[in-house]
Amino acid sequence: MQGRELRGELDAFLAENEQDLVAFRRDLHMHPELAFAEYRTTQKIAERLTAAGLNPCVLPRGTGLICEVGSGDGPTIALRADIDALALPDEKDVSYRSTVQGVCHACGHDVHTTILLGTSLFLARQAAEGLLPGRVRLLFQPAEELPGGALEVMAHGGISGVERIFGLHCDPRVDVGQVGLKAGPITSACDKIAIRVSGPGGHTARPHLTADLVFALAKILTELPAGLSRRVDPRSSLSLVWGRVEAGSAANAIPDDGIAEGTVRCLDESAWHAAPDLIKALLESVAGAYGVEATMDYSRGVPPVVNDEDSVQMLAEAAERALGPGTVVPTQQSLGGEDFAWYLESIPGAFARLGTRSPGGLDYDIHQGTFDVDESAIGSGVRFMAATALTALWDGHRPGQVAEQTVVELI
Ligand SMILES: [Zn+2]
Ligand SMILES: [Zn+2]
Repeated sequence: MQGRELRGELDAFLAENEQDLVAFRRDLHMHPELAFAEYRTTQKIAERLTAAGLNPCVLPRGTGLICEVGSGDGPTIALRADIDALALPDEKDVSYRSTVQGVCHACGHDVHTTILLGTSLFLARQAAEGLLPGRVRLLFQPAEELPGGALEVMAHGGISGVERIFGLHCDPRVDVGQVGLKAGPITSACDKIAIRVSGPGGHTARPHLTADLVFALAKILTELPAGLSRRVDPRSSLSLVWGRVEAGSAANAIPDDGIAEGTVRCLDESAWHAAPDLIKALLESVAGAYGVEATMDYSRGVPPVVNDEDSVQMLAEAAERALGPGTVVPTQQSLGGEDFAWYLESIPGAFARLGTRSPGGLDYDIHQGTFDVDESAIGSGVRFMAATALTALWDGHRPGQVAEQTVVELI
């Protein structure tokens, strides 16, 4: 089936189902659920998949599900959507505003979920007509925002036997109908760090008899980022930024403990792996110089999403096929984190940015209570994801092999 034929099939499918998919998205938007509490969302997805003749398998916690479309010996590829919402109040004045106080789909995961549902229904139809040359594993993943849902899906065999995986995220800086693509790293690592410093306190008249803890803490706050900037390849953009610091309670008393908390962000995977040991060594040397005790609590977040080049070419080819020529735009690596990265540490794949901005319309940002999308992005997303699955299966690519005619120039 060529691009034009696929476009015709997608047109027919969406003419029949697009309104219903928009209603499905609005229902999810009105009933957002936080990470690992997506019970209703999971049930709604499962109901729709079952009604289409598929066999969804809900994960043991009761949130998130895995479902497979197709059969036979062809390759298996996976498509992933995240289904959780954020602990933010919905500030929009729309009919589908969140009905749950303090919880909102402000990251667009309701849109991702709806797109994957629509894609599943389309692929089920293709499979029934014998037009699916392989299997597509549908991953409706819980708890992306925690993060950790990707690990839950993987722990239950979500990507075993899967050759490639694809996912997408709403991008309010890209016009609807377009997709932003980039080979290599596209998101960043983001970890949390907490430091506790302690030492003998006392009167500010006699700092030499104490550890002068506030002074020592201030040195740690400035020396750690400074030391890192000299010890790490600047191209990795490893940055330690403090968000909270606390010590002392009176102007003339040196306290005996204090804390600092911040985030470590990084664009490069190897620098990210090395960061905790390096920061610990710097902390010990600065704390030692000022005679204070320091302990560090380092919480790993997610690694950067590193897009496989061949998989990005498949996404580009799919966009050209399903959305038309000129719909692929280059995109930048963001400093945000995304737990899709965990899948890509095991298998090749790629993550795309789906345009959700109405041309000439309002500018939104994700993780804001005002965030919303141009809902025609749902139709574009279904076209793009379905074409991605079929492209990856048709071409039967193996890592390192890309057919000449499929290569689309990317910046
Ligand atoms: Zn988010
Ligand atoms: Zn998100």
